Amino acid sequence: MRFKYSKPSIDISTEYTGLAKIDKSIRDGQYKAVDYLKQEPLRSKCLLCTQTLTQADIFSHRSLDYFLCNQCHHIQSKHLPTSLYPSDTPDGLSFLDVYPELTTEQFQSRQSRIYQPKFNWILESLLEYGFTIDEIQQKSWLELGSGAGYFLACLKDFAIKQFNGLERNEDLCGIANRYLQGRHAHPHTTSLASAVESWPADIYAAFFVLEHVQDAHLFFNALKASKPGTIFAFAIPMFSLSTLLETAFETHAGRNLDNALHVQLYTEDSLNYALKIAGFKVINQWLFGQDVGDLRRLLSIQLENNYPKYLASIMDNKLNALLDTMQANVDQIHFCDSRHILCIKEPV
Ligand SMILES: [Zn+2]
Repeated sequence: MRFKYSKPSIDISTEYTGLAKIDKSIRDGQYKAVDYLKQEPLRSKCLLCTQTLTQADIFSHRSLDYFLCNQCHHIQSKHLPTSLYPSDTPDGLSFLDVYPELTTEQFQSRQSRIYQPKFNWILESLLEYGFTIDEIQQKSWLELGSGAGYFLACLKDFAIKQFNGLERNEDLCGIANRYLQGRHAHPHTTSLASAVESWPADIYAAFFVLEHVQDAHLFFNALKASKPGTIFAFAIPMFSLSTLLETAFETHAGRNLDNALHVQLYTEDSLNYALKIAGFKVINQWLFGQDVGDLRRLLSIQLENNYPKYLASIMDNKLNALLDTMQANVDQIHFCDSRHILCIKEPV
């Protein structure tokens, strides 16, 4: 298995600045959502390994209890969220409306800053593994959770012959198909497991999707049925330095285990368990996170209240200068808040 580490934080600086500005309203929305989640029934079985959770350890994170499964070490909320949580709570998702509708220029910027590096990394990894460019172009690709179509646009630009995306939100499918000038994004509202069963592909991709799947055991079992040589590229948030900061300090908005959009997290153990169920071998991992960005955000929010503006601004610049070097250390020891994984189905 190969590893790649880190990514310059400037790549996401636009999104980061937007998040910091509305930090407090996001944080308050997350705490309100928790009040509703606590009224839901208790989870009885681990969503990944299906082991009963009666013996599982419990810990509190921002006033919400979580199970640590004692078999696979997956982390999941003690209360079972509804399939629409948190958008079905009275305050809904209004506090999460971080990104306004994008212009063509903004679409292309987001594609090239965030999604093109993902595609390039997958491409380089597959070439290193022994595939030729022609073989990669001839493969059928399916993106699960294709959003506004940024990754699909990268596939189109690389002249991939057959590519499709499945997306819950019909409006996003419409946006994607407009940019792609073809019908590549398709509405899909049932489970991720059924997506894999009904859309066979040579390469599956899923970026920041699996952490929303409440029946993960069904999904990894569906992948188990895929043919040998099937490739799966995905990104997921992980239990990390960011999680620790969120548990220890409750004044900033959560981003990693935020109790609203994320009520489960993969650990190193539960990730390995999941891939073992599916029978996939990891070819390459790319580790980078925004943990130090979270540290800077929580410190800056606090210091703004304590320090004169001048001093707060100088200190924020110092923290900004730390971002990449300090994050590189976090990435190197596999303590970062997310991973990109490229894996391949092994022969049975
Ligand atoms: Zn488990």
